[in-house]
Amino acid sequence: MLAKILGSAAGGAFPQWNCACANCRAVRAGTFRGKPRTQTQVAITQDGHAWFLLGASPDLRAQIEATPELHPRNSVRDSPIAGVVLANADLDHVLGLLLLRELQPLRVHATASVRRILCEDNSMFGMLDRIPNQTVWTDFASGEEFHLRDPQGADSSLRCQAWSLSTHYPAYVTADRQSQLASGEASLGFIIHSPSGSRLAYMPAVPQLDDALLQQLNSCDVLLFDGTFFTDNELIRVQGSGQTVLQMGHIPVEQTLIKLAELRRPRKIFLHINNTNPMLDEASPQYRQVRSAGWEVAEDGWEFEL
Ligand SMILES: [Zn+2]
Repeated sequence: MLAKILGSAAGGAFPQWNCACANCRAVRAGTFRGKPRTQTQVAITQDGHAWFLLGASPDLRAQIEATPELHPRNSVRDSPIAGVVLANADLDHVLGLLLLRELQPLRVHATASVRRILCEDNSMFGMLDRIPNQTVWTDFASGEEFHLRDPQGADSSLRCQAWSLSTHYPAYVTADRQSQLASGEASLGFIIHSPSGSRLAYMPAVPQLDDALLQQLNSCDVLLFDGTFFTDNELIRVQGSGQTVLQMGHIPVEQTLIKLAELRRPRKIFLHINNTNPMLDEASPQYRQVRSAGWEVAEDGWEFEL
């Protein structure tokens, strides 16, 4: 399996259009010891031909253009992107689907709840279903293992297991709709299994950790984990008010370093990093702390074989 990180920032990217925090100001001024980043996007392939996107970020068009493997190859209208796997219905995870609307066949793997939010409540997503077999929606259930398939049904030989991580639906989903949805289908993490037995964990929003999940993570070769915020009060400190990071559904990095200190097997990489996070600054003590704990801080363009 080949995995590419096309984007590594949290929603809003880095810098964020309306943010003048210390990080965003420094990166705009060209004085920052670190890189700008687009919004989180990962792409995986087994055979190098059919690619699957984990989520579909609002920066997807530019991310595809920056990635030659994802450019059209075979005809005037063509894409190596065979499918998308959705972990939740958050805007920064699904808006990119609307950028894939040019009548290109696509398979979207999602929970039934996420599919209903997008297809039944948000008519814009109908642009993905203008002609027969344009987008094939395939439901999966949390806990279940499913095969990633192209729009025609061909098996990529990559298997995905979804873990329910949060019962929290995005704020734009009406209370009425939320009452009809399965709580375990709101936000998931994925463990992708290759035919050779290697495993990639994709967990960009983790509100808490239990022993069962820890055990799963320790069976993985590469872990892409929630690096959104460093401390629980990070946004309150920057903005002067607001929710704690745990209230927003993210374990702060400084707690993750303790909770996952025993993980020995996987290469550990923080992903989905908010622009306020001090570890983006490679001159910061927080960056040094993360690196000396054996973790890496994801950058756009990274790739690895596993
Ligand atoms: Zn900022």
